[in-house]
Amino acid sequence: MKLSFLGGAGEVTGSCTLVETRDARFLVDCGMFQGGHEAWTKNQAALDFDLRRLDFVLLTHAHIDHSGLLPRLYALGYRGPIHVTATTAELLEIMLADSAHLQEKEAEWRSRHRDERRHRPMAPLYNMNQARACLAQLRTVAYDTEFRPHPTLSCRFHDAGHILGSAIIDAQVRTDAGTRRLVFSGDLGQAGNGLLPPPRHIDGADLLLVESTYGNRLHRTPAETQAELLAAISGTLASGNVIIPAFAVGRTQAVLYALARLARSRRLPPLRVFIDSPMAEKATLITRRHPELLAPQVRELDRWMRGNPAELELRYTHEVEESMALNQIRSGAIIISASGMCDAGRIKHHLRWNLPRSSCAVLITGFQAEGTLGRRLVDGARNVRIFNDDIPVRARLHTIGGLSAHADRDGLLDWLRGFAHAPGRTFVVHGERETAASFRDAIKRQLGWTRVEAPQQGEVYTVA
Ligand SMILES: [Zn+2]
Repeated sequence: MKLSFLGGAGEVTGSCTLVETRDARFLVDCGMFQGGHEAWTKNQAALDFDLRRLDFVLLTHAHIDHSGLLPRLYALGYRGPIHVTATTAELLEIMLADSAHLQEKEAEWRSRHRDERRHRPMAPLYNMNQARACLAQLRTVAYDTEFRPHPTLSCRFHDAGHILGSAIIDAQVRTDAGTRRLVFSGDLGQAGNGLLPPPRHIDGADLLLVESTYGNRLHRTPAETQAELLAAISGTLASGNVIIPAFAVGRTQAVLYALARLARSRRLPPLRVFIDSPMAEKATLITRRHPELLAPQVRELDRWMRGNPAELELRYTHEVEESMALNQIRSGAIIISASGMCDAGRIKHHLRWNLPRSSCAVLITGFQAEGTLGRRLVDGARNVRIFNDDIPVRARLHTIGGLSAHADRDGLLDWLRGFAHAPGRTFVVHGERETAASFRDAIKRQLGWTRVEAPQQGEVYTVA
């Protein structure tokens, strides 16, 4: 059997692994490379192998760094099945359309700004029609239900607790040497981050791929996170607003339920929360349509929200005019908006209006990459540029680290302790180079597993 690490190895984006057995050839995830100058080139160069011989695709979850090149696969000629959970399919419908829109805009921008002597317009990675067409290739399967994407392979999706619909892939494959069990962790959730159940434990594998995003870090506990959130908000709403940049899928909902928990315990007065991002609204509605997928205490909290609309007044803003009207509110509003790193979308308007006011607060709830507006704020900039204006930063800035959708180092190790025996081979993926290496060492040291590797992009391994 052969494993090719096409992306998400030695880095956190572009997740894609090609698996070749004696009889079948398939991909696990087909993610987009994001951030940094090379992302555009890497996405253009990705999937450079014979797609006619690809039998099927298995997808762990809807995040773009795992799913964003699916329409590219379609654009390059792949017409086979893509197996996903039903909720992942629902989320892909909104996320791939949004991604296609961004791809079209980026290609247009690059065509306008490129060398004058080369007139050929740049083609987007894929367009809206290709994104829609690729949705027709999705085949949905429920959690814990056996399916056979190929006569020599049987698979199950187990809840990974990372985002709605996220799955651990558990596959049995027939090889010359007998049946082999392959486990792909996908991204693993943080047990007790207050949105989804903890990732399902798996008891064995011959071959394991495990993520390592936070393989060298520890998150704050849920109680510490609630206390931080409370401290950041209380005292602000009487005279100012609270602005929360957040990723539309996953983080927005985690923030919402964390706020609901505070409102319910009466540690905060009744709250007025605006979700100002069309994609976050759709993702929140999908989340609330699936209470059966939420952690039991969140399901209960959601029921409380529905029964007590005055305690947490939730409003979605659809039109740009409604979003702009929020800028007139001087106090008492909590505004959750995208993008999560503050460099695009409606959040920029809210920051422009609220950053100069010392009575306001900005809550950073997610990772802020180098070069983004969010990162400059976290780094303590006194002035930032927004829409060509110099904006003084007088609002209080709070970083709330505990709402991550990823398990931290100890959470990942706990999940690995669920294995009754060390897997035959373990590959540590989906972590920056040093993080993945440090987590590989932690596995060897703390669990005593010996055959553990941290592959790099482009590496190919032959496994028995
Ligand atoms: Zn993810």
